[in-house]
Parts: sequence; structure tokens; C-alpha cells
Amino acid sequence: MLGSSFLRFVLLINYIIIIYENEDERKYKGKEKIRKYCTAEKKYDRIEKVEKKKNGEKKMFQKFYPSEDINSTYDIDFESYFEKGYRGIIFDVDNTLVFHNAPADERAKALFQRLKKIGFDFCFTSNNKEPRVKKFCQDVGGTHYIYKANKPSTKGYKKAMRLMGTNKENTFFVGDQLFTDVYGANRTGIHSILVKPMNPKEEIQIVLKRYLEKIVLWRYRSKKR
Ligand SMILES: [Mg+2]
Repeated sequence: MLGSSFLRFVLLINYIIIIYENEDERKYKGKEKIRKYCTAEKKYDRIEKVEKKKNGEKKMFQKFYPSEDINSTYDIDFESYFEKGYRGIIFDVDNTLVFHNAPADERAKALFQRLKKIGFDFCFTSNNKEPRVKKFCQDVGGTHYIYKANKPSTKGYKKAMRLMGTNKENTFFVGDQLFTDVYGANRTGIHSILVKPMNPKEEIQIVLKRYLEKIVLWRYRSKKR
């Protein structure tokens, strides 16, 4: 009798212990789940933050990316652009068509004769002063020019399209600087072609800009690869 009571007591204790242990384990698993969830949440937050930063950087750089980069203005297949439906071209002058402040040479004159033959209208849009831009335009047989355009302001680009009677869809831009030329064209919403600057010897403020350009170009080219 005493033996069976003792046995029942032991079984009861055993049962309580099992319940207690299960409960403990359940609690532990719950806590573990929460911990894992929190860690995952933190990880997710961290990933989201990094992504946001990356996207921000991407956007920061992207606004300077040209639609295309071509070695030289003289390598551009202008005929194919005409076939695609383009009718107007906005050109930067210095270091895009000739060396900085250099007069129009035979190559430049021939290019603009060719463009006229194809059927293009063109406009020179430069941050340089009037005598420089006007003379260049006249020498190559052009009609439209904008001086002190204050690129990357969009005003010069818009005025150029007004002068040519073209629009954002059928106009493209050619220039050698990212932060003025290409950025301005992008802000205007027109196709932009970046060409390599013609003159390797440039003024100090442009040399500094070129270093910054290199960083953006490196990212642009690595994205293209
Ligand atoms: Mg230039």
C-alpha cells in the first residue's frame, strides 16, 4: 500500500518535472525565436541602410553619366543619328571641336559642311565669351550660337533647341566635360555624348575637375562592362 502510494508520488513528481521542463524548453525556444527574429530584423535594417546608401551614391553619380562616350567628335557616326530621327545637334566648342580657344580648322569646317549635307541643324553652346563663340560659328558656316551659356544650366540647351526648331527627342548633345556639358544635357533631358577632351594641357581648375570626372567615369565604365 505504502509502496504504491510512494510510486504514485514519484510518478506525479516526474510528471510535474516533465511539464516544467517542457514549459522551460518552450519558453527558451520562444526566446530563441525572438532573438533570431530580432537579429534578422537588424540584419535586414542594415542591408536596407547599405542599399539606400548605395542607391543614393548611384543616383548621385548617375546624373553625370553620359548616354554614350565616344573617343572624339570626329569619330561620331552622324549619318546613323540622322537615320534614327535626330535633326539637331548642340555642340560644346572648346576641347570638343578644337583645342581651347583655337580657331576653327579645316577638319572642323569639313565636319559642319558634312552635317549640313546630311540635313542637320546645329548650335554651339559654350560657357566661353561671345567673340570666341561667334567667330567659331561663323568660320564653320553655322548660324546659331549661345555664349556664356552657364552650363550645366538648362537655359542654353533649351534656347539652342528653340533656335533650331527641334525638341528633346530629336536633339542630342556633344561635349567634353561631365559636370557642365553632360550634366546640363541630362538635366535638360536630351541624349548626351561625352568625347575625350582634345587638349591634354588644361587650366588648373579644369585639371581639378578632371580628377573628379575620373571617379565618375570609372563608375560609369565599370557599370557598362
Ligand atoms: Mg569644353
